[in-house]
Amino acid sequence: MDEMIPKLFGTSGIRGKVGTEITLDLATKVGMAASTYIGGKGRKIVIGYDSRTSNQMVENAITAGILQCGSNVIRLGMVPTPLVGYAAMKLKADLGIMITASHNPSQYNGIKLWNPTGMAYTQDQERTIERIVHKKNFLKVEWENIGKIENNESIVSEYINDLLNEVDIKGNLKVVVDCGNGAGSLISPVVIRKTGCHVITLNCQPDGFFPGRNPEPSEANLRELMKVVKATGADIGIAHDGDADRMIAIDNNGKMADFDKLLALVSHSIGGKIVTTVDASFSVDKCMEDVGGEVIRTKVGDVHVAEVIVETNASFGGEPSGTWLHPDFCMCPDGILSALKIIQIVEEKGPLSKQLGEIPSYPTVRDKIECEDIQKTLIMEKVKEELPEYFDNVKDVNFIDGVRISMKDGSWVLIRPSGTESYIRITLEGKTMEKAREIRNISREFIEGIL
Ligand code: MG
Repeated sequence: MDEMIPKLFGTSGIRGKVGTEITLDLATKVGMAASTYIGGKGRKIVIGYDSRTSNQMVENAITAGILQCGSNVIRLGMVPTPLVGYAAMKLKADLGIMITASHNPSQYNGIKLWNPTGMAYTQDQERTIERIVHKKNFLKVEWENIGKIENNESIVSEYINDLLNEVDIKGNLKVVVDCGNGAGSLISPVVIRKTGCHVITLNCQPDGFFPGRNPEPSEANLRELMKVVKATGADIGIAHDGDADRMIAIDNNGKMADFDKLLALVSHSIGGKIVTTVDASFSVDKCMEDVGGEVIRTKVGDVHVAEVIVETNASFGGEPSGTWLHPDFCMCPDGILSALKIIQIVEEKGPLSKQLGEIPSYPTVRDKIECEDIQKTLIMEKVKEELPEYFDNVKDVNFIDGVRISMKDGSWVLIRPSGTESYIRITLEGKTMEKAREIRNISREFIEGIL
């Protein structure tokens, strides 16, 4: 029955091109469905958007839908995603809505929903919204109960103050901040400057055409930032994606920090129990071993990290993509708080390049094998049942997301079917380059043998 209902939500909310996929009709229906889902009349929804040209149009359409189903709207205006999560929590709203396409190009937009704890909607919640939209089961109200709009601008300064209370930074560093003309522009440099640090900004004027750089904080898109860090002798460079739920760092030599190592470094500083995804490096485990901490692995995707943090009461969680969750603060990934945490670590313990250099690293291989979509299930079944036998030092095998085989020496291999393309993906890390090659060859030959 459920299969008949078209999917609207992908791995990170509803996402698509404006006008064809993200339409006014869809936005209004999502607004009505969201209001219906939380109970309608008298409920409270906070809504914010990033720097895209289509934002106010989409915001107004969603808002119209919400009001028609009786909930009230608190408008936050242009804010980073973490502020929507924070505001939902702080203002005791029933729901948070962020209009953003994160790192996608200008012509895209998207809608992402947040729980009152700041945690992203789970897949089950998203399926319920899809069902309401599909069946048009909207709780529309009569004229006397239509919702109202209020604006809230004071939450921004509350957020900034609360962020600053989360860290202890003396302000001795020079920091270059590149917000890629996204929603972080209005907050991230302000917060970092308030710590006392010397801040140089790059692409910190919000602009939906993203004239400075592509909003994806990849190495190719951060060349300018790397140059500026080096040229100004800065201690660190910080880059955000379009909605600033992610953070990427550039070290004091103007080199992009390895994502896994950065995650390992911050995990090490937090200690205790931390959550990361099955594709994150063993260097995270190594660093946590060092402080007697525990690493819990989950499926790829920040909402899965959030769910497991809640289940296990962990103190931190993150994906190698730079999406980090600080549960003591809020359950929404926060690239600005992540930046502050890294700045504090550098200020306390010395140059980022040196600290990252001390983290053990292992050769990593990412490979893929083309296959028909209908073959994926059979391949994964065989991988699950037979592949572990091909290795002689297996420590454990888990099926959290695909099949992940860990060896006694710390090497591991993860086999997953691609969710969007006709591939089986092989991700692995070897204790040595030789070991990595050996694991790759065994895995590849095994899968090719099935095809
Ligand atoms: Mg993002």
